[in-house]
Formats: sequence, structure tokens, C-alpha cells
Amino acid sequence: MTETDSYLSGKVALVTGASRGIGRAIAVRLARAGATVACVATSAERARETAEACTQAGGRGVAYGVDVGRTAAVAELVGAVQQEFGGLDILVNNAGITRDQLLLRMTEEEFDAVLQTNLKGTWNFVRAAARTLMKRSGRIVNIGSVVGITGNAGQANYAASKAGVFGLTRSVAKELASRQVCCNAVAPGYIDTDMTAAIDPKAKEAALAGIPLGRTGTPDDVARLVEFLCGPGGAYITGQTFVVDGGLSL
Ligand code: NAP
Repeated sequence: MTETDSYLSGKVALVTGASRGIGRAIAVRLARAGATVACVATSAERARETAEACTQAGGRGVAYGVDVGRTAAVAELVGAVQQEFGGLDILVNNAGITRDQLLLRMTEEEFDAVLQTNLKGTWNFVRAAARTLMKRSGRIVNIGSVVGITGNAGQANYAASKAGVFGLTRSVAKELASRQVCCNAVAPGYIDTDMTAAIDPKAKEAALAGIPLGRTGTPDDVARLVEFLCGPGGAYITGQTFVVDGGLSL
């Protein structure tokens, strides 16, 4: 490892939704840059493999479990991470779910579940971690979606939750800027993960046809940008939303 590779050495990061997909790629990238990473999924068991991959990558990974939508449990977990590692420098809110349904068929449960995990889950972690991040000129990256910008038929709940994440991001950026905390959002397009594996082949083909760069994204396409925002290059960037979608939303 060269000196520039370990620019996050001594930093403590927390990544939600780290068991697979985009969150796993982010956790491993931060660890490769030298960070200690608290890898959070619905259970510590589910985050274990990513934590091991983080340690193998040259940082250190520790697995934690929580439902991000549960306010008190999230505060407890953030407290435990602070206690264990002496503070927190980087928070990546990535955990997310879909419950797709056309508006007229969408149930209240489907709407609430998506808002609870995607939006309230993000707010829960930002609020619980704000104090410790303020002490360490911290970074927050919230994972949204292009759907939060463009909207999408069948995803009124998901689009609303992600648009909410963008508003939350800008507000937090303004509120914490005087303490040198940078808060940004990333809006991925179509990324190959378990979330998109469930989409039927015809819809997938149509989506692919709408991507100017001619391919779907990989989790690492997103993770590279998050890594940049958490590193030295992100020091003067706050309140922004960065689209990573191969041109899909153009
Ligand atoms: P994924 O493969 O389905 O993984 C979702 C992750 O979130 C898992 O680690 C899961 O943990 C965790 N999670 C879900 N609900 C949770 C809860 N209530 N509490 C704690 N953890 C929870 O998803 P992905 O495709 O990597 O997506 C990651 C993020 O990117 C999401 O916010 C998603 O909305 C966003 N995004 C994805 C795409 C895409 O095309 N894939 C596009 C735009 C935006 P378990 O393993 O324990 O269930």
C-alpha cells in the first residue's frame, strides 16, 4: 500500500446497508483507503462477510445490526460505535428498500415502509451522529436515486423518499457547515445489485436502451464517487447531489 492509498488511515466510517450491493462496495473502498468501517445491516450476521472483506482490504471492518428505521436503536448503535472507536468521521447512509406498486394499488404499509427505511433511516443516523461528526470535521454521504429527481411510475413511495433525502442533505449541509461537516447526496441510476435483479428482463432491456453509456452500472461505479467525497477531494464540496447513471436521466 502506498502512502496515498491510506489517506483515510485513522478515520472511522459507518456505512449502512453494507451487507451487499452498493453499500458493500463503499465499505470495502473506504477500508482500502485505510478507514475502520462499522458495517451495518439488518443484523450483524448479515454484515459479517463485508466486515471481513474490509479487514482484508487493509482497513478494519466490524459488523453491526440494526433496523435503520428505529430511532432509539440507531442512537444506541451510534453510541456503541463512538465508544468502541473514539468517535466517527464518515457516515454513509445507504440502506434502502423498494416496494414498487402503481399509485392506485399502493397500500399505506408499502408507502410507510419505504419512507421509514429510506428517509427516516437516513435522518435517524444523521441526527444520532451529528455531534460526533461536528467534533471531527466529518463527512456525510446520503445515497438517493435518480428516481428522486425524475420520478418513476410505480415508485411514488421510493421517489418521494429519495427526493426527501436530497432536501434533508441540503438542510444538513447548511446546518453543519459552520462546523466543517460536509454533507452530500449521490443519485445512482440503474446499478446491478439484488435490488435490480428482481426487475423483469423486458423492463431491464428498456432501461438499458435508455442509458447513453450503453451499460448498467456496477456498485463500484457508485463507491468510487463516495470514496472521493469522503477523502481529501471532498473537503470543499457540500449540499450537492451527484448523479451516477451513465446518462440515464439526461
Ligand atoms: P440491496 O442490494 O438491496 O441492499 C440493500 C442493503 O440495505 C442491504 O445491506 C440491506 O441489509 C440494507 N437494508 C435494507 N433495509 C434495511 C433496514 N431497515 N435496516 C438496515 N439495513 C437495511 O440495495 P442496493 O441496490 O445496493 O442499494 C443501495 C442503496 O442505493 C439504496 O438506498 C438504494 O435505494 C440505492 N439505489 C440503488 C439503485 C440500484 O439500481 N441498485 C439505484 C438507485 C439508488 P440486509 O442484507 O440485512 O437486508
